[in-house]
Order: sequence, then structure tokens, then C-alpha cells
Amino acid sequence: MQPYTTTVPGYPRLGPRREYKRTLEGYWSGKLSEEEFLERIGQLQTSQLQRQRDGHLELLPVGDFALYDQVLDAALWLGCIPERFQSLWEEQGRQVTPTLYYALARGYQGIAPLEMTKWFDTNYHYLVPELPQEFSLNGQLLLDKWQRARQVTDRLKVVLIGPYTFLKLAKLEGPAVAQTMERLIGVYRQGVQQLIDQGAEVFHLDESYLVCDVPAEEWPAVQAAYEALADLPAQILLHTSYGGVGPVYEQLVRLPVAGLGLDFVRGREENLQALAQHGFPQDKLLVAGVVDGRNVWRSDLEAVFQLVREQIEPHLAPERLWLSSSCNLFHLPEDVELETELPQEIKDGLSFARQRLEELHLLAQALRHGPEAAEPGWSRARETHSRWMDHPQRVQDEVRRRVGQLREEDFQRTPYAQRDPLQRAELKLPPLPTTTIGSFPQTPELRKARANAKQDPEGYRRRILEEIKYVIQLQEEIGLDVLVHGEPERNDMVQYFGERLQGCVTTQLAWVQSYGSRCVRPPIIFGDVVRTQPMTLDEAQYAQSLTAKPVKGMLTGPVTILQWSFVREDIPREEVAYQLALAIRDEVRDLEQQAHLRVIQVDEPAFREGLPLRRADWDDYLRWAVRAFRLATSGVKDTTQIHTHMCYSEFGPIIDAIAQLDADVISIEDARSDGAIVRALRDYHYPAQIGPGVYDIHSPNIPTVEFMANKIRATLECLPVEQVWVNPDCGLKTRRYEEVIPSLKNMVEAARQVREEVTAKG
Ligand code: GLN
Ligand code: ZN
Repeated sequence: MQPYTTTVPGYPRLGPRREYKRTLEGYWSGKLSEEEFLERIGQLQTSQLQRQRDGHLELLPVGDFALYDQVLDAALWLGCIPERFQSLWEEQGRQVTPTLYYALARGYQGIAPLEMTKWFDTNYHYLVPELPQEFSLNGQLLLDKWQRARQVTDRLKVVLIGPYTFLKLAKLEGPAVAQTMERLIGVYRQGVQQLIDQGAEVFHLDESYLVCDVPAEEWPAVQAAYEALADLPAQILLHTSYGGVGPVYEQLVRLPVAGLGLDFVRGREENLQALAQHGFPQDKLLVAGVVDGRNVWRSDLEAVFQLVREQIEPHLAPERLWLSSSCNLFHLPEDVELETELPQEIKDGLSFARQRLEELHLLAQALRHGPEAAEPGWSRARETHSRWMDHPQRVQDEVRRRVGQLREEDFQRTPYAQRDPLQRAELKLPPLPTTTIGSFPQTPELRKARANAKQDPEGYRRRILEEIKYVIQLQEEIGLDVLVHGEPERNDMVQYFGERLQGCVTTQLAWVQSYGSRCVRPPIIFGDVVRTQPMTLDEAQYAQSLTAKPVKGMLTGPVTILQWSFVREDIPREEVAYQLALAIRDEVRDLEQQAHLRVIQVDEPAFREGLPLRRADWDDYLRWAVRAFRLATSGVKDTTQIHTHMCYSEFGPIIDAIAQLDADVISIEDARSDGAIVRALRDYHYPAQIGPGVYDIHSPNIPTVEFMANKIRATLECLPVEQVWVNPDCGLKTRRYEEVIPSLKNMVEAARQVREEVTAKG
């Protein structure tokens, strides 16, 4: 391979027009036969490889193109087929057929799928492998991909999840890691050997868990794994993304592998320091992740050029240096050139996956033969970059001044103990008040109306108001205590605000995979954030005008907007969070003052996801994340009740931060976790009110009155009745009315029954 060979850990699978989504969903709905599905998805793999080849990428990844999730691919490759799927497995002739594959991903005839959780600190969700007693190789799926890729090019590397990271993604800890590694590594080796037999020479093993805290007792498992692979006749590259490897660097460079991949974007300082301090071994390749795989900003190519020349190259000969993106490009949309409605000066500042390949190509040219050899692209890139850096809308003096002048009281409310009785007197709610998380079903008619909104804005508006009226009436009929307007106007809880805030843009086609066929279009926060007019006021006002019951205003919190957007990097995240918080704070105030709402919810479902990968960095994040939430919500009267909502369990470690949010009521997803959160809150002596979800909205089943009443009773064994609310565990937007109506009726009845028991006792 030549010096500065360009490669990436992976490329988006969606295709420029979300062909991936259409193909998967076409197969699931029965529109495509299995044969048609395999044909189409294979073609998509091929065309995504062709795009990379045509983008001048020199070493193309194979194996990153998963049919749902790369971790599921790895699990199946290693024979992790849970007991409950055994009979299906036998039925399928012990083959990883599409039926079996999607059964694990999505469930099958009442058999629960694998658990889903977040991939590192991103909004991509992977499926958690369930490890078997005995691993065994299912190589065919990957071999098929290999064969297909070979028809595009012979410059290929096989991308696999590394054995250590695989076990960590399966949530193993401590001694179990080493014990399981012993059983795993032989099969893993066999799988690699099988590809070598087919002509594979380069293997990229993703060991990104090494950027997290690696407990000393787990290191021997890493060592043992790579020793077991050492004598294979192939180039094994151990790759890390999402941060630096400082704490393990010295051990890492001693592993018997052909090369190491390091992240010089997010882990830049740490990895440079490790290089400077310990040097780089003479016998290894360095795959340097120098362009960002995670965020969308155009690279400063001159700065990257300098970085390589001055800080990396002194440690090794160019023959042993390859160039890469910092991580798998699947966090990025495909191609910025497909955007037709973004202003050119903003497009100029962006690099999506295809543009990253161009950047790598220019860099390789410039490093090999001098920047002149990369002309005219090199100069054009430089000019565009500097024009972008001077973009006038980046700085808005007014919001800078507001952030600069924040005082402690802007983050403070009257203590909970004082405002609580005032709110109770104001709202006069019964014990165990019932409510929902905000959204009601997004029906096909609504989606259709939204798609036509441009042509017929009046009609769309009418449709939304009708929907709000329907939802309010429905909730009154069902007998809920605190109502919501149902969020019919929101296409997405973050994008909706992104479309309305100055300093943000939204896109037409910039989709990224969230999980399976689900895609999101994160807003792009490129400049200072300013709210120029109310964003949710009209709908809220209208909803409250229809009922005497309290309507709960519904906003997305600053941390969640930040976490689910592509965020500028020229100012600290903390500052962007405060800017967003001020915009939400103004909206909260308008809902209170103009719409006369007495209850306002500020959702923070992504609060936990933003937690840094290393424990040492948690406190700083939690400090400013808590402050941003408080800034957004502290501008209200004592009588106004602030709610928040979070999903995904494992709140234990951040319970203190949750208490510091100082919300009056928090609703949380707890329906599947057996009351763990409620017990944690009890042990913590959590002071305010809590609505642990009484049923799981992710399932189409209609929960019975008895089931939910028992759930409430169980909560009341931990918490006093004054602290408890009754609600589903998340928003209802993905459900159908046929499910929602009976479920909520049962929920209200369950609350009524338990309320009666409690009043009788008390
Ligand atoms: N209010 C939002 C809804 O009900 C919250 C969504 C979420 O938790 N992700 O849809
Ligand atoms: Zn939720």
C-alpha cells in the first residue's frame, strides 16, 4: 500500500434517497419477496461501494454494510442466537436468513427482540448481543458481502467489531470479560481465517471501547485476544474512534497487531500527547483519523496538513501512515450537494460523507506531492473554509451579551418545598394525577397533510387545529387530569425547533440512521441561537381555550436539542446550550404569560445519552447540562408547575443531577425495568414528584387495568402518594388510536381504583 493510503471505518448505508429504508420496509411489509429484497439490498451495497471508489477512496470497507445493525451482524457471525429463537433457527435450516436476522432485530411472533441501546455517546442504537454458552461461526453473510465487494474493487479491508469491544457492547464487566474471551476468540479467529481463505488481507477491528475507562482487570482479555490472532497471515489493524487512548496507549502499542487506528479529531490532544511522550513503534502502521466522521463541518485542510506534517510524521515514516476519518462515516448524511434549499454559503461550510472522501483525497495528494499537486481543489477548499469562518451570522451580539450577563438567580427557583403547596392550591389535582407524555398518534392523514403543507398552508393549519380539538375532547372523555395538545404539528421534537430558531438550519435529504430503518435529520446549529418569535404559542393557546382542565405546554429541552443536532465547534458546547436555554426560557415565559398555561413540560430524553464516555468527564457535563435546563425553566412563577421527561433506564449514576434539575414533576420510562428507578429515587430521598411510566408504549399490546394498578401499587410501596403521578412511559406518536384509546382508559381506571384504596386507608 502506498504512503497516505486513504480509508474509512465505514460508509453510510442509507443511500442518497434512503433506498435502505425503502428496501427494508418493503420487505417487512411483504411488498418485496425475500429474493427481491436480497437482490435490492445487494445492489445498494454495491452502489455504496462504487460511490466510495468513485470518490477516490483507496481502501474500501467491507462488513460495515449491515442489514440492520453492525453489532447484530457481529453477534450472528459469532453464533449468538438466544435460546428463545432456537426453534426458528432450526426451522431456517440453521442459516442466517432474512427471517432469522430480522426476528432478532424486531421480534417474531411474540418473541422479544434483542434489547436496543445507544452506541457510545451517539444517537445510533445498536442491538445488545446475548452471549451463548458456545460460540460458533456463521460466516456466510459476511462472505457474501465480501464476494459482492470484490466485484467493485480488490482494494478492500474487512471491518469487524473487535473481540473486546464486542464483549463490552454485550455489557460484560470484570472477570467475565476474560472468561468469555477464552471461549470466543477461537471462533473469532476461525471467522478471520475463513475470509483470508477468500483472499482478504487487511482487517480493521473496531475496538472503540478502548477510549472508555478500561479497568485494569480487563486488559489481559484484550492482550489474550490479539495474541490469539497474531499468527494469522493477514494485516490486523486495531482501530479506535470517539476519543483518545491515552491511558492505555503504552499497552496498546505493545500488542502484536500490524497497525493502530487513532482518532485525531475528538481524541486529538490526548493522542498527540501520547505520541509525543511514548513515540510510535517502528513495526506498526498508524491509521490516523484526521477528518471528522461524526460532525458535518468542512475540514480545515491546511490545519490537518500541518497536523500530519508537524505532529504525526516526526514519529514514523510516511510508508507507515494511512489517512482515515475519525470514525465510521455513517454518522453523517451522504452528500451535501443533494441539498437544494440550503443557502450556498452554508453548504460551503459543510462536509457530509462524500465530501469527507474528497477531503481525504486532497490531503493524500498534498502530502504525497505537495499542495500544488492537489490544485485546484486545495485552494478552493481553503477559500471556502475561510469564507465560512467569517460568516456574518455566526455571532449575534444580543445573545452573546445575555449569556455573558447571566447571574445565579437566573438559574434558581423558590425552593420546591415552598412552591409545591402553591402549585397544589392552584391546580387542585386529585391524588395520583393522570397525564400523558405529550404526543398523540401521528396518523397517516396528518403526515399527508404535512407533506402538502407548502402547497396548502391554510388547509394544513386547519387540519392541525382540528386535530388539537379532537385530542382535547378525547382526553376529557377519557378523564385525564392534565391534558396535552398532542403535538400534531411537530414532525420531530428537535427538528421542529431547529426549523424555527435563528442560527439553525434543517435539511431536505440529510438523513442519518438512528436504528434499523429509522432515520433522523438532525438540525445543523451553525450560528448563535436566537428565538425571533414564539414557536409553540398558538397551538398551546388554542388547546387551553378548549378546556377548563390544565393543558401542559410541551417543549424540547436545550440539552436534547443540542444532543440531537450537528453542533458548531467554534464555541464551547456549554455556551450553545445556554443560548438554546434562553430561547426555551423565552418560550416558557410566553406559554405562561400569553397562553396562561400553569403546567409546562420541558423534555430531556437525551440528557443521559450526552454523558461523556469517561467517568472523569461526567461532572463537567452534568454541571452545565443541569444549568442549561434550569436556565430554561427558572423564569416562571412559583405557581407554575415544571415537568420534564426522560427515557431509557440506567438513571442510577446520574440521580443526583436529576434532582438538581429542580423540576416539579419528572416522568420517566420505567415500564420495562421493574421499578429500579423508583427504588433508586426512594433511596435517594428524591424530593419532588415522579411519574414512572405505567405501561410500555413501544409495544402494541393494550395493558390491562389490573396490570397498571399493580404497577402503581408497587410504586406506592416505595414513595408517598403525594409524590406519584400516573402516565405512560413515553410519547404516543408512534401508536395508533385503536391502541391508545383503550390503553389510556384502562390507565385512568387503574389510577381511580388505587386512588380509592388510598383514600379509604388514609
Ligand atoms: N413530548 C414528547 C412526545 O411525547 C417526548 C418524546 C420523547 O420522550 N422522546 O413525543
Ligand atoms: Zn420518552
